Amino acid sequence: KRAQVQIDEHRICVCVRARPLNKKELAMKDLDVTTVPSKDVVMVHEPKQKVDLTRYLENQTFRFDYAFDENSTNEMIYRFTAQPLVETIFERGMATCFAYGQTGSGKTHTMGGDFSGKTQVCAKGVYALSARDVFVMMKKPNYKKLDLQVFATFFEIYSGKAISCTPPLVDQQRLISCRCVKVFDLLNRKAKLRVLEDGKQQVQVVGLHEKEVKCTEDVLKLIELGNGCRTSGQTSANAHSSRSHAVFQILLRRQGKLHGKFSLIDLAGNERGADTSSADRQTRLEGAEINKSLLALKECIRALGKNRPHTPFRASKLTQVLRDSFIGENSRTCMIATISPGMASCDNTLNTLRYANRVKEF
Ligand code: ADP
Ligand code: MG
Repeated sequence: KRAQVQIDEHRICVCVRARPLNKKELAMKDLDVTTVPSKDVVMVHEPKQKVDLTRYLENQTFRFDYAFDENSTNEMIYRFTAQPLVETIFERGMATCFAYGQTGSGKTHTMGGDFSGKTQVCAKGVYALSARDVFVMMKKPNYKKLDLQVFATFFEIYSGKAISCTPPLVDQQRLISCRCVKVFDLLNRKAKLRVLEDGKQQVQVVGLHEKEVKCTEDVLKLIELGNGCRTSGQTSANAHSSRSHAVFQILLRRQGKLHGKFSLIDLAGNERGADTSSADRQTRLEGAEINKSLLALKECIRALGKNRPHTPFRASKLTQVLRDSFIGENSRTCMIATISPGMASCDNTLNTLRYANRVKEF
């Protein structure tokens, strides 16, 4: 008789967020092909054509823990995803929150917020809202007596050709797996960091700056600093962020020792699948690398949900640096899958929804 796999479903929350059609899509007369008919269902209405050229809509339905339509706010998304995880880190746990989706679907808007001034309201994102509630929790008598200190880190895991890989290696495969994936400290003028694993399999990002923060405003300043650092010298913010994972962490320390950690991650764009058939070798390698890390991430989250003792974290730098967040009894995670509503994005949207579905399929 096979032993029943213990499934710990409450450890993983997966939701989807559709943004409104943007100006460019409206100008192109793109159609909104997604609907959110209820609070946990999203539908994609994909235009298709039969052999006799008659057109029809193929409706596909996906169910998640929560589904948010284009009218939802960052605050609403936050309340159902990251907010319940804030308590976890006070209870000595590890929490992670990921934004996953194609470039332009709203990952950074959701996580980092929108401070561009384009909109009337400065919309705080999940980073800032989580920090706000960390400081609210700090005031609670139970936690106040622990005398905790709060720190923040902000770094980027980048797979791209903008930074040259020297010296050139003969073995391209080795090159991409160990040289082309780089980690940069966004709170320290983009210093290049090394990721090392010690004998006890403890993974460390060597030299990563941890800044102590005393209030939400301190955190907002760091987010702004990091974001500026992230895109500086780049022709297009999106071209850059589509190739990098941004990791923002809130750490609680008690007498110097780690008490809890919340990692909030704005993932690289998942549209890279197409790149794997690109004519340009470098582009192909980058695409393969990003795909690899997103697949590894999915497997690590699934292992967490199954309470598997062995997490396949070694498969990518992203999962390697998040290793300690995927193990331990008190680890929880949430994923926010962001989708672009337009017909032009249909293939990417379906890929995003299938991936997000798999994360919770046991
Ligand atoms: P990504 O980080 O996934 O590449 P962004 O967050 O940069 O995407 O979003 C792309 C554009 O769409 C930005 O101009 C952003 O302000 C806008 N946007 C994204 N999500 C929303 C939303 N829910 N409501 C309004 N505008 C949004
Ligand atoms: Mg972005």
